Amino acid sequence: MSAPAYPIINNKKICTKCKEEKNISEFGKSKKTKSGLCSECKKCHNTCERHIHIVDLEKNKQKRKQDTKLYYIKNKEKICKRTTEWAKKNKEKTKKYGEKYYTNTLNLEKRYIRSSEWEKRNVEKRKVQKKQWFNSNPEKIKKYRTKFSNDIPNAYVAIFLQRPASDAKQYPLLFEMKRLQIQISREIKQKQLN
Ligand SMILES: [Zn+2]
Repeated sequence: MSAPAYPIINNKKICTKCKEEKNISEFGKSKKTKSGLCSECKKCHNTCERHIHIVDLEKNKQKRKQDTKLYYIKNKEKICKRTTEWAKKNKEKTKKYGEKYYTNTLNLEKRYIRSSEWEKRNVEKRKVQKKQWFNSNPEKIKKYRTKFSNDIPNAYVAIFLQRPASDAKQYPLLFEMKRLQIQISREIKQKQLN
């Protein structure tokens, strides 16, 4: 790409590679040149080695991602066991990771989606679990209810709105309204329970 570019004449330009004269629309944009256009035509650029190399890299990346996923699926038990063992040996580190993960509101959405997916797959199991937990943690439930009825984070509201949490800045009223709606429906539920 170091070859000097040909000038643009009557909206036409010669490609430094194939030496054909072509309309400037057949040249890609470039920040490196004075004219703002690539010195090679799009056709030549797409067949150049570097471009192919980049495309290959992207393909490899996708494949690696898939391989990792497949490996995980095949070796789930082994990996889980290893992770648990590691966590046991590194209690402090694990605690720190956990705290970081749970205090990050960005993860809230992820956690919500993951747990609702799990619930769908384990309806009966979840019912029993919920009941047991509710029966054995009355104080926690009380605390949780008062805390969350006053303070619902944007990330949580965003799930109901099916929007990214970052939209809260742009549409504060929308988020406020939805938050109120969630609070009201919680209040109603609580009254029905009492
Ligand atoms: Zn060319």
